[in-house]
Amino acid sequence: MNWEKGELLYEGKAKKIYATQDPDYLIAEFKDALTAFDGGMKAELSSKGEWNNRISSAIMGYLNEQGVNTHFVEAISSHEQVVKKLKMVPLEAVVRNVIAGSLHKRTGLTEGTPLSRPILEYHWKKDELNDPLLTEDLILALMLASEEQLAAFRELAMRVNQVLGPYMDERGILLVDFKLEFGYFRGDELNVGDEVTPDTCRFWNKEDMAKLDKDRFRRKLGNVAEAYQEVLARVTK
Ligand code: ADP
Ligand code: UDP
Repeated sequence: MNWEKGELLYEGKAKKIYATQDPDYLIAEFKDALTAFDGGMKAELSSKGEWNNRISSAIMGYLNEQGVNTHFVEAISSHEQVVKKLKMVPLEAVVRNVIAGSLHKRTGLTEGTPLSRPILEYHWKKDELNDPLLTEDLILALMLASEEQLAAFRELAMRVNQVLGPYMDERGILLVDFKLEFGYFRGDELNVGDEVTPDTCRFWNKEDMAKLDKDRFRRKLGNVAEAYQEVLARVTK
């Protein structure tokens, strides 16, 4: 298929979204910008858009092969991929296998402690409030999703974890936690949208527990580019 890049529909912090000649499909262009703390910390990282485009393509391509619905169709250039146009759910779903980040802050439990079972939590996509944590009860009361939808989100999020955990493990990476966004394709087909990259996942090198993700940027640990390139090398090997 020869995809034509149409109108710019949206520009976010990490991606630009364009129309295509087919109303059911979009082109996502991955930017070289790195941001954290809802845009409060910003940097340009040359080629980061390319690395994330290729990493998300590899991971979502694998999820598709395993029967887990994602929006990913095909990469069409270094920074661009074609995706299904989804009606996005205004929630971020975070799956966690190991204590880190905001869960460490909330509980005081040591970063790196494995959880006895994976957990799913939701944040409301509201940049101006720094994506507040929501309970399932509040999601229901605010009518952001129904019980049936929450059950479907949970099933899909846990399935991603079941497939992605071993895939990364085989590549020497511990899948600590990750964020997913969901949306509906052509009405009612639930899909994983957005991206699965070191911007949205915590990836730790199993050998020495070194961070191979955006925490290198957030926490000013250095070697950000090397970490993203290492993840790309391992998922495309
Ligand atoms: P943000 O909006 O948080 O700054 P991005 O720069 O990554 O983030 O912007 C991408 C936007 O496109 C997000 O709002 C995301 O929810 C949305 N999006 C991701 N995948 C799809 C899709 N397949 N269809 C429609 N919208 C999508
Ligand atoms: N995450 C994300 N976008 C956000 C917030 C978090 O992709 O707006 C990812 C983050 O990279 C990590 C997981 O979700 O893999 C859990 O993040 P956490 O709640 O610990 O937040 P943070 O440490 O970023 O404050």
